[in-house]
Amino acid sequence: MLKRAELQAKRTRSATRRAKRRVKRESRHAAHINHRISKEIVAVAQRTGRGIALEELSGIRDRVRPSRDRRATLSSWPFHQLEEHLRYKARRAGVPVIAVDARYTSQMCPRCGHTARHNRPTRDAFSCRRCGLAGPADHVAGVTVRNRARSAWVLGNGPVPQRA
Ligand SMILES: [Zn+2]
Repeated sequence: MLKRAELQAKRTRSATRRAKRRVKRESRHAAHINHRISKEIVAVAQRTGRGIALEELSGIRDRVRPSRDRRATLSSWPFHQLEEHLRYKARRAGVPVIAVDARYTSQMCPRCGHTARHNRPTRDAFSCRRCGLAGPADHVAGVTVRNRARSAWVLGNGPVPQRA
């Protein structure tokens, strides 16, 4: 018969083993999802003759504010790995990738440029206090990221090619 302390140690060891297995499984799952997301994004960009604009990584966690129960997943989500997948696949496909300054992408109005915390009445909504432009916060921020990438592209590579 095991003594209490031995039992405890045994439980701790098997709990540690289980935890390690879970972490491994979760990171495999994340890698698989990152692979699928990046593959899809690069495929669409290639098919439609577009480039890919990325927020500098430091910004992504500030902007993505999920509900509390999803926060744990997202705060540990390997965004860096996603970016690496994206860059690798994009390079292979000849799709340009531009990283843009992520500062205030969530607060800036892409129509009039007004930048204020008050432009975000809630986590999910954007509503410009100056010109009234409104929409889902992520979409509006996406437009700002795209605009910044276009400016960067024009400065570095001449005009953005127009699609027929
Ligand atoms: Zn505005």
